[in-house]
Amino acid sequence: MKKVYCDISATTPISNDVAKLMFNIQRDVFGNPSSIHKYGQESHAIIEKARIQVATALGCHQEEIIFTGCGSESNNIAIKGAIESNCHIISSSYEHPSVMNVLKSLEQNGHSITLIKPDETGRINPKSIQEKITKKTKLISIMFANNELGSINDIKKISEITKSQGIIFHVDAVQCIGKIPIDLNELGIDLMSISAHKFYGPKGIGALFIRKGIDLNPILDGGGQELNLRPGTENIAGIAGLGLAIKESCEHIEKNIKHIKNLETRFIEQLNNYKINYILHIKDRLPGVLAIAFPKIDGQSLLIALDLKGIAISFGSACSSGTTKASQILLDANISEDLAISTLRISFGKIHCNDDIDYVAKELSEIINRIEK
Ligand code: PLP
Repeated sequence: MKKVYCDISATTPISNDVAKLMFNIQRDVFGNPSSIHKYGQESHAIIEKARIQVATALGCHQEEIIFTGCGSESNNIAIKGAIESNCHIISSSYEHPSVMNVLKSLEQNGHSITLIKPDETGRINPKSIQEKITKKTKLISIMFANNELGSINDIKKISEITKSQGIIFHVDAVQCIGKIPIDLNELGIDLMSISAHKFYGPKGIGALFIRKGIDLNPILDGGGQELNLRPGTENIAGIAGLGLAIKESCEHIEKNIKHIKNLETRFIEQLNNYKINYILHIKDRLPGVLAIAFPKIDGQSLLIALDLKGIAISFGSACSSGTTKASQILLDANISEDLAISTLRISFGKIHCNDDIDYVAKELSEIINRIEK
């Protein structure tokens, strides 16, 4: 049976060259990067090369990048590290749990939190943020693009507000690397989280951009690795894998975006040809990420029927899957409960070809016709 993985937003397969590089490093390089001898230096050099690759891809200085255990850890280090006692934080109602649950626990510890809901375009309106700022606002944390909707926030506009008010701005950009160009030189972001497994790198490795001049309090105690913010002997192969993956993703970003947009157009054309009734929720979104409703069809049943045909997609995001309820993110974006229950997230990437798209559209139409009958 043909298999088509269309859940790129949940995670990506690892690139061949990244896997090869990591295998070679695991086999050949084992020195502790903190050791002074040549073994240590060799490991240290691999880490610093990856740091340069990340900085080059994102338009920042290499000293502004630390490596972490994953995107969730980057979010924790950034948010918990940036705040002072009893401060006010503004964020959105549709952040990933690694932001949302940090905010919940901070609220229990006396901080005040304001969460802003997305508008009907799936974006957080910068004006709504501005209106909620108080003298106690220390941090604003808004995701670059939403993992369920694919909607992209106006990060530049928000950063103009945070800059003018001297507020620290954290951005969860985990969904964006390799999908939209990001130039930290141009954006007034202070802290930005990324995760390698979303851009064809390995799982269990992330990075955090910390703009020069921003001081974070460590949330973990240990050795002095990664600017004293992420203690522990470094995951050398993972870091090298992240470095190569971000280089591959960002060097070819324009070509990849064009390819993915062509696939998207082909998919939509096929849905129209098959006369499938669908609603694409968000217009301006990450390339390849479709939050798409098939009215009157139960999303979970559709997911299972597609899985039986070798096609992998999501109902909600990966971290909320397993639930049969309508996604709160969709409801917050003013999507009715009926439509939310019929909404799937289909995400295409650079690994796909026209044949994959044709197969998904054909199977989708057959399944929907069967269910409707
Ligand atoms: N932030 C967003 C927007 C995500 O989509 C994810 C993963 O799904 C994360 C953070 C967490 O990343 P990681 O799985 O590396 O912890």
